[in-house]
Amino acid sequence: MGLIRSLSDRIKASFHAETEVNPYIIFDALNYMVVILNEHGRIRYLNKAFCDFTDVDRDKSIGKPFTEIEPLTHIRKDIEDALMLKLPKTASINLGGSIFGVNICPIPGPWGSFKGIIVHYRNITKRVEIENELIRRNRELTVINTLSTSFISSRNIDAVLSDLLEKTILVTNFDCGCIVILEEDTYVIKAHKGFSMKFLKQAEEGELTTIWEGISCTDEPFYIVEDVRSEQGLDVFWNEGIMTIIGMCLRSTDKVSGILCLSSRSKHTIDFEDISLLSTISNQVALIFEKVRLYEETKHLSVTDGLTGLYNIRYFYEALDTEIARTNRYGTPFSLVILDIDDFKHYNDSFGHQAGDNILKAIAAILKRESRKTDILARYGGEEFISILPNTEKEEASILAERIRRIIADETFLKDLGGVKVYVSGGVATYPSDGSDSKSILYASDMALYAAKARGKKNIFCYRRDDEKDIFKAKKP
Ligand code: GH3
Ligand code: MG
Ligand code: MG
Repeated sequence: MGLIRSLSDRIKASFHAETEVNPYIIFDALNYMVVILNEHGRIRYLNKAFCDFTDVDRDKSIGKPFTEIEPLTHIRKDIEDALMLKLPKTASINLGGSIFGVNICPIPGPWGSFKGIIVHYRNITKRVEIENELIRRNRELTVINTLSTSFISSRNIDAVLSDLLEKTILVTNFDCGCIVILEEDTYVIKAHKGFSMKFLKQAEEGELTTIWEGISCTDEPFYIVEDVRSEQGLDVFWNEGIMTIIGMCLRSTDKVSGILCLSSRSKHTIDFEDISLLSTISNQVALIFEKVRLYEETKHLSVTDGLTGLYNIRYFYEALDTEIARTNRYGTPFSLVILDIDDFKHYNDSFGHQAGDNILKAIAAILKRESRKTDILARYGGEEFISILPNTEKEEASILAERIRRIIADETFLKDLGGVKVYVSGGVATYPSDGSDSKSILYASDMALYAAKARGKKNIFCYRRDDEKDIFKAKKP
């Protein structure tokens, strides 16, 4: 620029001197391309760099209107403006695969006259490439940052996946999409956006399984169909008005854990830039999904009894406090049922500890199967189980407990060892009638269990405050 300016000053000086010497020859020393036009837009000079790069013959061009020199027609409007307004202009153009920044400057003559314009080209290809790369990286960082907030803002796996999908659609140019998770050999749509109920129902009925399998099994990182009519078996998408699909496997270590599928209702040409961004997105979604899954698994383990899979006692105490608070607020009573296996020691002694464990697991499975969804079922101790029955009065709780007791009594356990019968006894207490806090309600249900044992086992006993003396009598024979 500095050199151009000083050269430009020398040319202006030569105009002032009205010299006969062609002053422009000096521009041939530059590796910048330079074009000089007179005030009527005719070629006064094309420097060597310009002629070499554009393959324009200088001698044949001198004196011609600039519009006849093809490379100059790309900036025709800018040159015409500069000639008319006698003001500098800038432009950027693509010439022969390179990008140029073009400066068009008026050449002032003596006494305020106008002598034409000087056009010079700077090759800015490298700079533009770097800028584009920076823009791309910045976009990717923004995407990573945006997606990461899904994990921070919610630890619930379904909410995280919905949020991830929402943000993915926002930062890409797709209309709809879904996140499909592989759950025990079944593909389940865990988050979706933009699809009709009909499409989702078809997906639920397994009509997309072959497509999901195809995406999961391919070694390619992307499954791309720009026009769904060009592939067989994509009718479900076509009937949904979808034209383009891109599917990406979500991988945790080397295993496919799911699929991120994005679709567009108009034909979407997927270029290198899209692929680069989508690869960042799918990696990020897979990473976040894995983190949330691990978090949920750890959370689940921390509240679960390892042997039976029921809630552990720590979780039970928390749930009991929550239920008491709910009852205090809304006035709906709840009941507690404790079940204890009768003479459990005998099974351990006769068949071994392992067999005893198997009985515990089998009884836990029955309790789980027979309990209502709202009941909170925990392993209370060695061979004791406890259940919170929300919104349940004592009578109803006692009927439910008796039903489960009978189911266990009717079952045959340890079939591989010849089969044994196992019985349970149970105690029922109801909050707030049998206790005013967690300690006293647990005490009441314990007392009822002792009473059931004292009455010969294999039965359910409901706590009654008036019976307390008898219960104590029963406890201390
Ligand atoms: P009752 O009818 O009075 O309840 O008699 P019980 O034998 O069932 O009760 P007791 O409290 O005397 O014995 C409970 C036994 O449960 C003792 C213990 O070895 C066994 N037990 C506790 N936890 C486990 C466990 O995780 N696995 C196995 N196999 N046995 C356990
Ligand atoms: Mg016991
Ligand atoms: Mg027992």
